[in-house]
Amino acid sequence: SAALYVVPTPLGNLADLTRRAEEILRTVPWVAAEDTRHSGPLLKQLGARARTLPAHQHNEHEAAARIVERLQAGESVALISDAGTPGISDPGARIVAAVRAAGGRVVPLPGPCAATTALSASGLLDEHFLFYGFLPSKGGQRRQALGELRDYPCALVFYEAPHRVLETVADMATVFGERTLVIARELTKLFETVHSLPLAEALAWLQEDTNRQRGEFVLMLSGAPAGGDDGEGKRVLKLLLADGL
Ligand code: SAM
Repeated sequence: SAALYVVPTPLGNLADLTRRAEEILRTVPWVAAEDTRHSGPLLKQLGARARTLPAHQHNEHEAAARIVERLQAGESVALISDAGTPGISDPGARIVAAVRAAGGRVVPLPGPCAATTALSASGLLDEHFLFYGFLPSKGGQRRQALGELRDYPCALVFYEAPHRVLETVADMATVFGERTLVIARELTKLFETVHSLPLAEALAWLQEDTNRQRGEFVLMLSGAPAGGDDGEGKRVLKLLLADGL
């Protein structure tokens, strides 16, 4: 029967498209894409004949309704985003929810995701991790969000844009003090680097060479040390709040 296939696409290296993803994209009549122009070359390369429909942040409601209609007409739809897994810091969740609410079938495919790829190479020893995704873009809100994560005893995983990586790393150092930071950049691409260092040294390391500030980033922090920190977290949060954020 018809289904909505949630299909992860490569983060950079096209060989990371799974065989199953390839087969689905080649055979479904419809592909719902975050950016149809961006995904065009991939679909063309696969010899996919699917018609595309746009499914981005600003039309997700509308796209969801169209996709439900297609499924009800017995036609399967593959949902893709620009890179990685749809619904993970990307549009898709609303569409999946709408299909479920309409009683439709949702089939998720495993595949590329920057967070899990980065984490697997991080060497962070925490048993648990918290995926945060993007922090707020405004400094005060960002420091507040970081402050709220300060006592979590698990690795913290963030996505960040290149033009904000310096301010975010500076804020992390202010809020967290002593932690390990792992910077994963340009995963699966030519300039892939995964670098682990004390958080306090990270800003200087990034500033040393502007190439280190380019590309796509996953930032990972080791978790709060076990046994709490004698109210240090509360002290810093209070300071931040007194600052008016
Ligand atoms: N849905 C995607 C996923 O499954 O990872 C994430 C989409 S989100 C809009 C884009 C962010 O993911 C980037 O700003 C960056 O933080 C991270 N990212 C995507 N590709 C990456 C790569 N090749 N290397 C490092 N980070 C990447």
